[in-house]
Amino acid sequence: MSARVTVAGSLNMDLVARAPRIPEPGETIIGSDFRNVPGGKGANQAVATARLGAEVSMVGRIGGDTFADSLLRNLAADGIDHTYVTRDPEAATGVALIVVDDAGENSIVVASGANACFSPADVEAAEEAFARADVLLLQLESPLETVQRAAELARAHGAKVLLNPAPAQALPDALLSLVDALIPNETEAALLTDRAVRSQADAREAAEALLASGVETVIITLGERGALLAQGRGGTLVPAFSVDAVDTTAAGDAFVGSFAVALAEGRPLEEAVRWGNAAGALATTKMGAQPSLPTREALERLLAR
Ligand code: ADP
Repeated sequence: MSARVTVAGSLNMDLVARAPRIPEPGETIIGSDFRNVPGGKGANQAVATARLGAEVSMVGRIGGDTFADSLLRNLAADGIDHTYVTRDPEAATGVALIVVDDAGENSIVVASGANACFSPADVEAAEEAFARADVLLLQLESPLETVQRAAELARAHGAKVLLNPAPAQALPDALLSLVDALIPNETEAALLTDRAVRSQADAREAAEALLASGVETVIITLGERGALLAQGRGGTLVPAFSVDAVDTTAAGDAFVGSFAVALAEGRPLEEAVRWGNAAGALATTKMGAQPSLPTREALERLLAR
């Protein structure tokens, strides 16, 4: 039987334009190459898990506009169940307005729209999706009270709760105590622990501080260095796979999704971190977010290398 993962979180349409440079305040410049690209950390992580063969259920909220239709079609294309993605006819679907300049720099405005109205009641209406999950995946692009309620329901039904604290914000102990594994990157770990996280030693200290706040397992992703897995004192550095990286967008989402699938399949923690590293590495070898998320076949090939 395949692994079952439920993702409760954000769905956005990314509106991406290229421009020679990022405009100054008040300035209009002529750009090129406009595209609508499905995104949102919740949806990206749902796609990451589905591509790796898990049975995935997405729980979230979208608007009554045509972006909403496209986002649902996009989930369905990867076989993701969207029964519990609530349509809110009053709201706009979440969007991210992204300008990418010729140097590869970007500027982004996220208008959360319906994601900001994703409520504890939405989560309660989706209880069935939490009851059948082996693993619940959460991020912080949804209201904290909704994240909290989702974690409570998953725990009550015996699912493991993974929290990718992105974008980072202070987390209440009541939420941390429900989290089986907290998976920040270096920037998020720094924000959560109020200290700089640059070296491996910094990462170990940050992990210890996070463990002290009541989480059982902390995994700090370290880009091309891999990831630090910490439980109790110390920690193990699980090294990255060496690849030709061209675009690191969605490496974190790929990592979290792959780690979730491995745990849902009952694999040990260190192996699950290796799975995360493999998917993260593969995601850096292609441009874009969802298009770069690897298939099971590609993942297994890299893991066997
Ligand atoms: P985020 O995308 O959230 O900033 P990271 O940059 O830490 O997260 O990347 C997540 C994971 O992707 C890393 O832990 C690593 O396994 C993998 N990864 C990222 N960049 C590279 C790279 N240049 N080479 C190999 N693996 C990478």
